[in-house]
Amino acid sequence: MRYVSTRGQAPVLSFEEAMLTGLARDGGLYVPETVPAMAPGDIAGLAGLSYEDAAFRVMRPFIGESFTDAEFEAIIARAYAGFGHAARAPLVQLGSNHFLLELFHGPTLAFKDFAMQLIGQLFQTALERTGNRVTIVGATSGDTGSAAIEAFRGLDNVDVFILFPEGRVSEVQRRQMTTPGEANVHALALKGDFDDCQARVKDMFNDFAFRDAVGLSAVNSINWARVLAQVVYYFTSAVSLGAPHRAVRFTVPTGNFGDIFAGYIARRMGLPIERLVIATNQNDILHRALAGGAYQTQGVTPSISPSMDIQVSSNFERALFEAYGRDGAAVAQQMQALKEEGGFAISQGALEALRETYTSGRASEEETRATIRAAHAATGQTICPHTAVGVKVAGEQPLGGAPMITLATAHPAKFPDAVEAATGTRPPLPIRMADLYERSERVTAVENDLSAIEALIKERRAA
Ligand SMILES: *Cc1c(COP(=O)(O)O)cnc(C)c1O
Repeated sequence: MRYVSTRGQAPVLSFEEAMLTGLARDGGLYVPETVPAMAPGDIAGLAGLSYEDAAFRVMRPFIGESFTDAEFEAIIARAYAGFGHAARAPLVQLGSNHFLLELFHGPTLAFKDFAMQLIGQLFQTALERTGNRVTIVGATSGDTGSAAIEAFRGLDNVDVFILFPEGRVSEVQRRQMTTPGEANVHALALKGDFDDCQARVKDMFNDFAFRDAVGLSAVNSINWARVLAQVVYYFTSAVSLGAPHRAVRFTVPTGNFGDIFAGYIARRMGLPIERLVIATNQNDILHRALAGGAYQTQGVTPSISPSMDIQVSSNFERALFEAYGRDGAAVAQQMQALKEEGGFAISQGALEALRETYTSGRASEEETRATIRAAHAATGQTICPHTAVGVKVAGEQPLGGAPMITLATAHPAKFPDAVEAATGTRPPLPIRMADLYERSERVTAVENDLSAIEALIKERRAA
């Protein structure tokens, strides 16, 4: 299995190389050269398997020769052993024909643990073989950073540096990043917003001298291995509702488009997904783009669903690449326009291609709060603000037909203020992390300045 860049100019890589590299050297994102199909009988054969066994079968074709079957099985087993629920991704019913896929039972209480725990173990196995060291640098609006730190803390061949926008992540998110005591963990509070954090990470990758000097690696949602890990729960949830004999729909609270793009891959593999519904908060560039064809940045407005507060949705480039018939030059041109003019027009053909797969909707702050309140009143379920954005948008889709599965992307206790404001009740942390507020914090404040950040990383990483 080989991986190509969405901009068509970077070397073709193996799974392991694409994983260790993150961003392609032409600025693009790696995607599989061909998407392997899963026959209906093989999809049906996932029924009744453990999450781990299903994960092995779904992901194996993408791995190629990078890991042996025995290695990959052990990696998957270690990745999900720390989850707080035996089913890993349990499905609960929210209303008639509407289900919630609970993706928040991992160590940091958000769906990003599914990918990050796996990638931590993949890195560990790959680096042990060669003895190489890497420096992982990531930008986070909150959940990616905590998930990355949790996945890489204490691993031998990795230093992890996470940039988060100072004052713009929840206290639980911040504490999950600043309380691990391991020497290879570095939480950096940047004076700026999430897009500044993401831009500085991109800059570091484009600084090839720095990139090579520190062995830079990315585990942001641009990393293909993360997308791949997320494909699994589309299969397990759809199969438990009757796939491949019955089609399903998914609504996905969306920011950087990594999670929903995993759904697209599942669909391309043969899973009968009738619709993938993009749910955005008031930072609705994706909804506007799909509705009107103009992908136009507008700045970020902080919301109560901060992990979706983005103005540039990095994985959308992968969707564009497919919509443009895998024309890397066309994608590169649009990304150039995005950089220089803050936006671009999606061609009519590409827009039609996107609309064959995706529908979109948005939720305002008030609608998000009202949805948390209504779900609580109707079902007794407490949902986080991101999940509420999804539930609101799912509710606007045509009733009946294929069952709707909304992805519950975080545990409500990760965003206690917003949930308490909506329901009047403060959601408690699960017992296994109840002492989070007592642990001491370790964080370094940094200016939004590339060379200062690079100097700090060079100084702090283990040689
Ligand atoms: C990251 C995140 C999202 C958005 O996922 P993308 O893959 O960036 O689209 C939604 N909800 C929560 C809780 C998240 O942490």
